[in-house]
Amino acid sequence: MSETATLPLALTALAEDEVIFRDSVRQFADQQIRPLVRDMDEHAKLPRDLVDKLFDLGVMGIEVPERFGGSGGTFFHSVLAVEAISRVDPSVAVLVDVQNTLVINAFLRWGTDEQKATYLPRLATKWVGAYALSEAGSGSDAFALATRAVDAGDEWVLNGRKLWITNGAEAEVFIVLANVKPDAGYRGITAFLVERSFPGFSVGKKEDKLGIRASSTCELLLEDCRVPKANVLGEVGKGYKVAIETLNEGRIGIGAQMVGLAQGAVDHAAHYTKERRQFGKAIAEFQGVQFQVARMATEVEAARLLVYNAARLRDMGRPFLTEAAMCKLFSSEVAESCASMAVNLFGGYGFTKDYPVEKLYRDAKIGQIYEGTSNMQLQTIAKAVLG
Ligand SMILES: Cc1cc2nc3c(=O)[nH]c(=O)nc-3n(C[C@H](O)[C@H](O)[C@H](O)COP(=O)(O)OP(=O)(O)OC[C@H]3O[C@@H](n4cnc5c(N)ncnc54)[C@H](O)[C@@H]3O)c2cc1C
Repeated sequence: MSETATLPLALTALAEDEVIFRDSVRQFADQQIRPLVRDMDEHAKLPRDLVDKLFDLGVMGIEVPERFGGSGGTFFHSVLAVEAISRVDPSVAVLVDVQNTLVINAFLRWGTDEQKATYLPRLATKWVGAYALSEAGSGSDAFALATRAVDAGDEWVLNGRKLWITNGAEAEVFIVLANVKPDAGYRGITAFLVERSFPGFSVGKKEDKLGIRASSTCELLLEDCRVPKANVLGEVGKGYKVAIETLNEGRIGIGAQMVGLAQGAVDHAAHYTKERRQFGKAIAEFQGVQFQVARMATEVEAARLLVYNAARLRDMGRPFLTEAAMCKLFSSEVAESCASMAVNLFGGYGFTKDYPVEKLYRDAKIGQIYEGTSNMQLQTIAKAVLG
């Protein structure tokens, strides 16, 4: 006897609304993002006009209920959107990813009715959000964070610095993790909703990066930053739960970003190898080249299955922790190897900025670093396997 009465669908068999949604995002990415990719990478800048168009498309509030002005979709829809955009530009994809799988996700899970009513309509229509956990001294060891919050009657006062914050240049609201009781260790960590305009808050240096250059990565400064009492997200001292549970889901989104990137590499390789002629024929006619493209496509499909499975499990309310770690670990490795192979298949042209694959190669690297390095994913997987 199987566990369920009816057979579940194949993971890549999408529902009708999922196909329509994915295709509309793909079309947007091809028409509105693709022409801007090289310029955005060169100048390390995301035009506000493009961000506004992402809001208009409905991909900045995918899981926000319709009554708050969102698209009323699922986590799986977010995964489809991130993948479809990343196929064209992983930098734009991570803006959408952080907005949906980290920020809005945390609001939906931990926000009070009042916080949801205040922030979700803004997040779905005009405000970019950011998620601020990491600091100069605490990355993998995230809960060693040094940012402090002190109770000042009707407000909290925050002091500290956050580093590496995606969307820092664009965001209006930041989920900031700070410790209210350092003696209690991680049990003092609390999540605060900090608006860009709050006194004592400022955005510092923007990093000049190897890849995903159009995505802003910024330092945040909290200097006696005053945060209303009502702006604690979840319970005081339970910020570690907000952080862990949000990131467990967020890394499925990074898996989707890496699958999209790898698919982009396959698409470019397939197109180019049919055009490029050597020895009197298209290089795609050489079996050696065909096998390289075939291997890339197979790896992408395997990574996609891991990502879709983790996302579907999450939407079903089933445990997905190990699957999420596996999907991020594997898809980031596949993204790097596929982008690398695409550069090889483009030959010397692949090494230049006149062709799109060198950028994908640079962009791929981040998948093994943020939202938990590959070693951190291996640690999670090893714990599940070895106990
Ligand atoms: C472009 C970019 C965007 C980012 N966006 C955000 C964001 O929006 N919000 C946010 O909060 N953070 C963000 N980060 C931070 C990111 O999550 C951290 O960089 C990451 O978690 C790694 O931390 P670290 O850089 O301090 O490296 P470290 O933790 O110092 O790790 C260095 C190396 O040591 C290894 N290592 C560390 N501990 C162990 C261990 N116990 N066992 C085995 N190996 C270990 C790591 O795997 C890694 O290879 C971003 C980073 C970048 C580069």
